[in-house]
Amino acid sequence: MTVQSTSLDVVDGLSVPSDLLIGGDWTAAGDGGRFEVIDPATAQPIGSVANGTVEDGLRCVDAADAAAAGWATTAPRQRSRVLTRAFELMSEREELLAELIVRENGKSFPDALGEVRYAAEFFRWYAEEAVRITGEIRTAPAGTNRIMVVRQPIGIALLITPWNFPAAMATRKIGPALAAGCTVILKPASETPLTALAVGAILAEAGVPAGVVNILPSRRSGEVARAVLRDSRVRKLSFTGSTEVGRALLHEAADQVISCSMELGGNAPFIVLDDADLDVAVEGAMVAKMRNGGEACTAANRLYVHRSIAAEFAERLAAAMAGLSVGPGSDRGTDVGPLVNQAAVDKVTELVADARDRGAAVATGGYALDQPGYFYAPTVLTGVTPGSQILAEEIFGPVAPVVVFDTDEEAVTLANATEYGLVAYVFSRDLARGLRVSEALESGMVGLNRGVVSDPAAPFGGVKQSGLGREGGHEGLLEYTESKYIATNW
Ligand code: NAD
Repeated sequence: MTVQSTSLDVVDGLSVPSDLLIGGDWTAAGDGGRFEVIDPATAQPIGSVANGTVEDGLRCVDAADAAAAGWATTAPRQRSRVLTRAFELMSEREELLAELIVRENGKSFPDALGEVRYAAEFFRWYAEEAVRITGEIRTAPAGTNRIMVVRQPIGIALLITPWNFPAAMATRKIGPALAAGCTVILKPASETPLTALAVGAILAEAGVPAGVVNILPSRRSGEVARAVLRDSRVRKLSFTGSTEVGRALLHEAADQVISCSMELGGNAPFIVLDDADLDVAVEGAMVAKMRNGGEACTAANRLYVHRSIAAEFAERLAAAMAGLSVGPGSDRGTDVGPLVNQAAVDKVTELVADARDRGAAVATGGYALDQPGYFYAPTVLTGVTPGSQILAEEIFGPVAPVVVFDTDEEAVTLANATEYGLVAYVFSRDLARGLRVSEALESGMVGLNRGVVSDPAAPFGGVKQSGLGREGGHEGLLEYTESKYIATNW
């Protein structure tokens, strides 16, 4: 693939393409349109990228189709080698890529660096998985023949990613798709297209053949996705984003009966039982709540704490939250960067106001910062009452609402009272009790005495309206394969 593009020097030492990547060429949008990318720490533009059109989307399908047969039949060892090289290149440039994420997403530098490392690991993990795709041979119960099951690449995949983890959500999809032998079209979030384009350049440098990975920034998400999904050559949709958009895309995909993997919104309960180690629980809450400044689908959204320890837990949590430094992610000492845009600040402000109107008290924070950029103070709310909007919706900001409970059963009932089911957290010194509660929780993942669950080797995903399918682990690769059964005798 070629790596020439109108590039941006957003970060010293890293040249970031700003055009579309189609069939190995960096090209302007069909109508020449571009859109601006904003730095959330200053609310000022940092550059612009090509704004893909519907025709560009269809050109991506043509390119992915032209490359499909060649990539599907490329030796798994070779696919693995390319992914390994991509892992190495990302790792070598981790600080530069982290700075790029800081600029367009706003998160703090440590969070951005953590994301780049996590993102690169998906390339390494799937480089290792690429050579371990297995099938199965069974004997028919009647004893008359063999049942042979092989796994084949599912076909062209449309990948749509959100702004909150612009590198990791892309590699979590591209890694397994390429390992399985699929060609892809990635449509990154319009807030953060630069990181996706930088990943595209790395893949090109790593030796991904032209057309295998196509990258299509576009502010016309709906039209472009619809046109691509209506092309019968496209066989897979993998989406990470809000439940609302996911639901709309499932309707679109239904027309062509396209296989869908959906990583949608969350509303994670964080349960602290009365026998929990409070130091561990507070530390876990800080990670579960504040990773990415609270802008994570896995963020602890509702903190349920046993009545006997609730006051002490809230006090310690508030002290830890108050000690965080808020500022531009580009300052290396910053713990919490800005939210992504003004709408995010407005939403958090509204949720906090509603909770207060319904009786909650502010233990720390509770306000947006009066300065340029989209900053909100780390906040702890206590005495949050049932019916508060903040317990029903994703907060996506640095606010921790604490709710008191009396029995394990009550905690589980409260935790499960949501249409979401992505992740839950449980803290207890008694492993059997912790496991019992974990099993009763309606979520795809549980952090037991841990505030973070994400791991490229683990199956990440939700139940209920948090999604369909799993990313990461061995399961993540199977999402990009179709099983074929061959009945045979010998
Ligand atoms: P979003 O749903 O607004 O956007 C996600 C992506 O979809 C973006 O690329 C966007 O441009 C695109 N999009 C928007 N409208 C579209 C349409 N009509 N058709 C096709 N594409 C469209 O979500 P967001 O604000 O970017 O991200 C935040 C959300 O993502 C939160 O709900 C969060 O919980 C969720 N999320 C989930 C996971 C997970 O693994 N479950 C991970 C990260 C984020």
